[in-house]
Amino acid sequence: MRLRNALTTMMSLAVAARQSTAQTICAQIAASIGWTSVFPSFTPQYTTDILHWLESSTQLSECSVRPNTVEKVATVLALLGKTNTPFAVKGGGHTSNPGFSSTTGVQISLEKFAGVDYDQNAGTVTIGASLVWDEVYGELQPHGVTVLGGRFPSVGVSGLLLGGGYSWKANAFGLGSDSVVAWEVAFPNGTAATVTDANDPDLAFALRGGGNNFGIVTNFVMKAYPQTNVWGGILVVTQDNWDAVLSATETFSSTVTDPKAQIFVIFGSAGLVVTNVPVSFVTLSYDAPEQPEGIFDQFLAIDALIKDISSRSLLSLVQTGLAANYGAFTRGSWDTIPTPSYDRTFMNALVNQTVFWSDKLTSSGSILVGTAIEPFLPSILASGTTETAAYPYTREQVYFPTLLAMYWLPTSIDQTMIAARNSSVDTLKSVLEIETQGAAPGVPYSNYAASTTTVEQLYGSNLARLRQIKKRVDPNNVMGLAGGFKILPA
Ligand SMILES: Cc1cc2nc3c(=O)[nH]c(=O)nc-3n(C[C@H](O)[C@H](O)[C@H](O)COP(=O)(O)OP(=O)(O)OC[C@H]3O[C@@H](n4cnc5c(N)ncnc54)[C@H](O)[C@@H]3O)c2cc1C
Repeated sequence: MRLRNALTTMMSLAVAARQSTAQTICAQIAASIGWTSVFPSFTPQYTTDILHWLESSTQLSECSVRPNTVEKVATVLALLGKTNTPFAVKGGGHTSNPGFSSTTGVQISLEKFAGVDYDQNAGTVTIGASLVWDEVYGELQPHGVTVLGGRFPSVGVSGLLLGGGYSWKANAFGLGSDSVVAWEVAFPNGTAATVTDANDPDLAFALRGGGNNFGIVTNFVMKAYPQTNVWGGILVVTQDNWDAVLSATETFSSTVTDPKAQIFVIFGSAGLVVTNVPVSFVTLSYDAPEQPEGIFDQFLAIDALIKDISSRSLLSLVQTGLAANYGAFTRGSWDTIPTPSYDRTFMNALVNQTVFWSDKLTSSGSILVGTAIEPFLPSILASGTTETAAYPYTREQVYFPTLLAMYWLPTSIDQTMIAARNSSVDTLKSVLEIETQGAAPGVPYSNYAASTTTVEQLYGSNLARLRQIKKRVDPNNVMGLAGGFKILPA
């Protein structure tokens, strides 16, 4: 009993010491960058700054800070490093991994970096790190240009570009990260710089997929691409027609080579308290005002519950993906299965897993078990090389980032849901292993990957170079005080 009391006292002292250290650092940051840039708990700014797309990714920090220049971000980073204070930096807050852009220490908000500046002469767009893609597309629409960003509403610019970035133009122009030409970066040693392929090719390589390991990016400069209206939208299909969706997806992924065409197929089983409602959401996209005949015919022939397909703006196409936000503000967890091709055996297994786990878990509080099929062309990797980008570490083979997502309500079933997700991923990987006769497991997409994924799995043969770069720009691993997939200095 006495031992337990002593332990409890020690733990309370440790918690109190950590809290007072964090409170002291909030005061130090305020003294250094200005009291109006630091927000204590439960102010409206603090509440916005810690909020995440998933409730399970939100943590209560000691304070949030909103530096308004890259130099001030660097000052904050240096202070956090000097005092060994845990912190987080958030873009759009869409990670499903708790602690990756949230913290119980100091939350850095990039709220003050919110500009979209199109430079017609240079053919580039400078984008503030706090923005979400719909805001960017909306700003660029009057100029008739766009950039390679997210395909669904409300996703953050920063995290997507620091991990890779699959856009509706990916087949034609490659990954979003490959189209970044400059990054404005605050470094852990308190300095700031604009990084380009010309002035620091190593760091440019690291920032194309290396996540939050090298500093905080405050602005991205991306190539601009012409944008007309697009053709496309969404089909919502009930389970009795899933066979037709699977057949159309199989035909599309094995025959269509037109880089303007793309699909995104979700199979989901939504738990509604006691029963499941299995629904498929199919997004069709053709990057021109009208589609050529033949490419999407099989999809268009499906007897869909909802069919919202038209010639529309890119922003309007992205907004049809609102269904992808089912699950927002619940608890949730994602993982990915690098997939070399989509044949019927694998897709059937995906669908079976979705329905199986939803049936099993709905009565416990699961509200959605879903999977997303994303077939791309090999041309998606043509705009970059393994020399110029950390992700993917091999470009000899394209791996499609198949997504597995689970959303639920009660905290009490966190472990059950995560165990179910792991079991499902294992089952699906073993299906692929048989199909590929034990070929290498492929490159996971860090922006979909579960937190247990290792940096060896993510960065493979690029890891040694990344560790050298880390040693140069962050030898004391200050960025290791923030969560994420952590690359250690060599
Ligand atoms: C509904 C939905 C749709 C999606 N659609 C797509 C899609 O079409 N294409 C695609 O490729 N991915 C997509 N994703 C995945 C998406 O790329 C990741 O969730 C990504 O992390 C989102 O970025 P964020 O800024 O919102 O995330 P955050 O949670 O804010 O950040 C993610 C990570 O990046 C770090 N980070 C954020 N900003 C900075 C910064 N400025 N400097 C340094 N580090 C930073 C954070 O610390 C964290 O580790 C989607 C996700 C969701 C939930």
